[in-house]
Amino acid sequence: KEKVCLRNPIVEMDGDEMTRILWKMVKETLIFPYIDISLEYYDLGIQHRDETDDKVTLDAAKAVEKHKVGVKCATITPNAERVKEYNLKREYKSPNATIRGYLDGTVFRTPIMVEKIPPAVRNWKKPITIARHAYGDVYRNAELRVPEPGTAELVFRSHSGRVETLKIADFDGPGVIQGIHNTDASIRSFARACFIFGLDRSLDVWFATKDTISKTYDARFKEIFEEEFETFRARFEEKGISYFYTLIDDAVARIIKSEGGVLWACKNYDGDVMSDMVASACGSLAMMTSVLVSPQGCFVYEAAHGTVQRHYYRYLKGEKTSTNPMALIFAWTGAIRKRGELDGVAEAVRFADALEQAACQTIEAGIMTGDLAAIAPPFPEKRSVDSETFLEAIKERLDKHF
Ligand code: NAD
Repeated sequence: KEKVCLRNPIVEMDGDEMTRILWKMVKETLIFPYIDISLEYYDLGIQHRDETDDKVTLDAAKAVEKHKVGVKCATITPNAERVKEYNLKREYKSPNATIRGYLDGTVFRTPIMVEKIPPAVRNWKKPITIARHAYGDVYRNAELRVPEPGTAELVFRSHSGRVETLKIADFDGPGVIQGIHNTDASIRSFARACFIFGLDRSLDVWFATKDTISKTYDARFKEIFEEEFETFRARFEEKGISYFYTLIDDAVARIIKSEGGVLWACKNYDGDVMSDMVASACGSLAMMTSVLVSPQGCFVYEAAHGTVQRHYYRYLKGEKTSTNPMALIFAWTGAIRKRGELDGVAEAVRFADALEQAACQTIEAGIMTGDLAAIAPPFPEKRSVDSETFLEAIKERLDKHF
């Protein structure tokens, strides 16, 4: 059979540790034998980032801006320990933060759901995608410890000289204060990314804040979402999908009772908390996919998990590990499907669907990695295998369908 041919490049960003090992295995077993793709390769492995003073990360982000589609392996975000371990020049910023900062994107996380691993919430039939606003609020706060009685005020000094002052509280003893902010531009680009993603995947979009309590701050989020939705309304109606706004507490209650299958747009903190809740309810971090979507329509696909450091040390000792490659495989299928859609290559889309199906069917047939075997309810065919055996089992099924 002839290989599927994709002419326009996908930007490939290699990574670190166990995921770097799996990355190569996934490409060689499940991608290269079927697809002829031109890859623009950037090595974001920690040593190469160090050699280039992290310039390679920015170059990769620029390449994604140019070619629109990227696929990224998990990478080490160095801390003091890593600087010592890899003898680095300094503690580089997280590559994801650099790429997201450059492309100004929003991250969407969706769990991979398979029949044999039912979610902890039993009425969830379809995956819930969480979009987390990645700017501001408590993550860019200014905090003060109040040592003694006094008055706290909010002061805004505009460049034109206007001054606005608002009392926060009178303290008659010690306490704490915090200032947080957000910008219309960032909220607007978040709203747009969510509506673009909803349209792309035909998903209802939910958004929630606490605007009954925060009548200016949270209310501004609600207003901007409503304004932006107006430019999408006709296209949403055409697709039969909707935009739904409610209070955050109501959203949480409804999500638990829903069948899933929605895009839940979350403010920064809500997204931080809820994405871990959804991931954990759906079983394993290794089953969480992630895609960064920029307002200009660039897409970077990756697994939500890290480099699986502990497995890597075992691998270095010569052991075979049972590391789960599902989210890495879905990063590749995501990128290949998107490239196919953008370039009008239907066979590439069909390949991505077939590979995802083969991967899920392998688990449903009982062949899975240790992390899943530990959480799947028992059934006769169930067995835990190493990563290579798992990938080979997927390939066998893929060959039958593609
Ligand atoms: P991790 O995701 O690598 O591991 C967290 C836990 O989940 C571990 O117990 C691990 O064994 C398990 N796990 C994760 N993925 C798995 C898989 N595919 N198969 C089986 N088990 C899996 O996160 P960590 O240990 O906190 O971080 C390790 C490194 O990864 C750090 O250097 C961190 O900076 C980096 N990191 C990178 C990204 C990214 O590039 N997007 C995200 C998170 C962490």
